[in-house]
Amino acid sequence: MKALQDHDPSIAKPIDIVDTLVEALKEERKTGRFPREKFGKKDEPSTFKIGIVGGGISGLYTAFILKHLGIDYEILEANADRMGGRIYTHHFSEKAHDYYDIGAMRFPNSPIMARTFDLFRLLKMGEPGKPRDSETVLIPYYMTGRNCPTRYNDITALTQTEDDPFKVSTANGGTVPATRVSHKVTAEILDDAYDLARIMAATEARQRAYEYLMRHDKFSLRDYLQNVEGYDPETVHWLETTDSASGWYDMAFTENVLESLAFAYNDASNQNKEEKPTKWWCIDGGTSVMIKRLLEKLDQDKIFRGKVVNKMVLDGVGEDKKLPPHKVVVTTSNYHTHAEETHTYSAVINTTTLGALQKMDLTGMELPYGMKTAIRVLRYDTSTKVGIRFKTMWWKNPGFDIVLGGVAKTDLPIRVCVYPSYNIHDSGPGVLLASYTWGQDSERIAAHVSTNSPHDDKGLKELMIYNLARLHTLNARFVENRRVIAENWDTHHAWDWSKDEFSAGAFALFAPGQFSTLIPHLLRPASDGRFVVVGEHASANHAWIVGALDSAVRGLKQILTRFNMEAELGRMIEVFGDVDELKQEQVAKQVIISMLTEEQMARLRLGRPIQAVAQVMQT
Ligand SMILES: Cc1cc2nc3c(=O)[nH]c(=O)nc-3n(C[C@H](O)[C@H](O)[C@H](O)COP(=O)(O)OP(=O)(O)OC[C@H]3O[C@@H](n4cnc5c(N)ncnc54)[C@H](O)[C@@H]3O)c2cc1C
Repeated sequence: MKALQDHDPSIAKPIDIVDTLVEALKEERKTGRFPREKFGKKDEPSTFKIGIVGGGISGLYTAFILKHLGIDYEILEANADRMGGRIYTHHFSEKAHDYYDIGAMRFPNSPIMARTFDLFRLLKMGEPGKPRDSETVLIPYYMTGRNCPTRYNDITALTQTEDDPFKVSTANGGTVPATRVSHKVTAEILDDAYDLARIMAATEARQRAYEYLMRHDKFSLRDYLQNVEGYDPETVHWLETTDSASGWYDMAFTENVLESLAFAYNDASNQNKEEKPTKWWCIDGGTSVMIKRLLEKLDQDKIFRGKVVNKMVLDGVGEDKKLPPHKVVVTTSNYHTHAEETHTYSAVINTTTLGALQKMDLTGMELPYGMKTAIRVLRYDTSTKVGIRFKTMWWKNPGFDIVLGGVAKTDLPIRVCVYPSYNIHDSGPGVLLASYTWGQDSERIAAHVSTNSPHDDKGLKELMIYNLARLHTLNARFVENRRVIAENWDTHHAWDWSKDEFSAGAFALFAPGQFSTLIPHLLRPASDGRFVVVGEHASANHAWIVGALDSAVRGLKQILTRFNMEAELGRMIEVFGDVDELKQEQVAKQVIISMLTEEQMARLRLGRPIQAVAQVMQT
């Protein structure tokens, strides 16, 4: 982090636009030109209802908070078969542990994940370090395990004590500079690049680190390591190979720094007998248990399944534009029959992925251009998982000895193999997450995965057996391993998130420049302050449940502020905690801007909403 230490930031003077806005609004009202409802006017409580589009974790958590606050809500979920979205456990059968998690599956107990663990506690799922009871389902997740192989450059190794176990350095005929090949050195390079995360975690330096991050947001991680830190391309290729998915380093440097925040552990608070300290946790029975527990807390008559939202209109933006908008009218299409119906809400919280949101007719929502661009452009990654049920858990047998979960990594197509932590005490049949891939690696595996898996998964079984046999070959036993793995194969199931009709992608993974230029437009309320975008993508913690949860609180802050529900806002923060990514002052400014039309902004000489929002986000 030399570059940061050397830098003396001149933080731009914040531009306070709120007074100007309020004065201008008063003038507009006097002249009768302000067509919007007066800021702060609360709708009649008897008719106030919030529509939540999407029943994934952010939608359900939003409903959970609203119920606690005594505010009416409805959830419209497109999927007719299940709730939970990207929390999805596939059960091969009803038997215990006969499953794998297609979506979220593991949780580091780091400070950034606090809200996830708070929710586990609220749902009585358990607490790290606390005694278990009959309702506890939180169990340790073993990230490192024991005897998990690593295989690169056709060499399988169990430990990486040698400097160049995979013979990739120039000294051994490879391409990586000999001084940069060891596991220790690569870890140090990444630690150094991600030091910003630690700096950001320390409150007093956060603003400075944020400034630095935004100035370097134009870089991909690859550009940053090569052009700012000065590493050669071969070292960076090697880092990416051992650390992540193929091509992952072409995504924003910012994304990678924020991702590394998730791993800033809070070791002292998290001690466990079996592995000290236990840093990771998972849910016995699968992460969908969380969805089941949340659903039990909600009003069943307010949850509508199989309702595909295909249109939203800000009422009043119709024939007669002079009418003040009082509601958002949402049209749904029945997933099976395509029968349409409308639902009317005071405000809508959209929690679908941006891919799903973009497909809705939002013409009547007066969305600002910046938001429309963000919805279309912000980048998602894809991910594929292959779960295999074997007749016996061969990986625990002598010769393999993988008895304490963990993860194997390789440059073979399967890339990452996860030995589940929930079946380490079982014997007999068992499930292996044989392959967990992202990005380009995922696309290549997904070419063998049908939407009707395990049926029609052409060539997948052969590919998995070959890869697993190679990965686990420490000696000349490849043929024998292949026989053992093939003979033990029982059945499999695979999922490619890019083909999921409800998500159209796995998780947000922003490209260079997208955090600094597009996210402000996504995080603002729109449509007279009656529409907010919530979900994993609308947070600083992409690809984590905590991002989805944090975004729900941010969205509710905006809606409660819009309707002047101060008491409810206070209660929410008291019980569920605040989010520090958006201060209340910023929220108020955003809300005012969201109540103006683009024409008003121009007439008031406040600049286009795009500039005004950018100013608000900077203050
Ligand atoms: C492969 C993978 C691994 C992951 N691993 C982890 C992990 O280990 N730990 C962790 O914390 N997080 C993990 N995550 C991230 C986590 O799963 C997500 O961040 C979180 O579940 C997203 O929740 P959400 O509510 O934002 O979106 P979603 O879960 O996608 O919910 C959106 C909902 O909207 C619905 N919908 C879509 N279109 C419409 C429409 N037109 N009308 C109505 N409803 C609609 C969808 O069906 C869905 O139910 C992982 C994600 C993936 C994909």
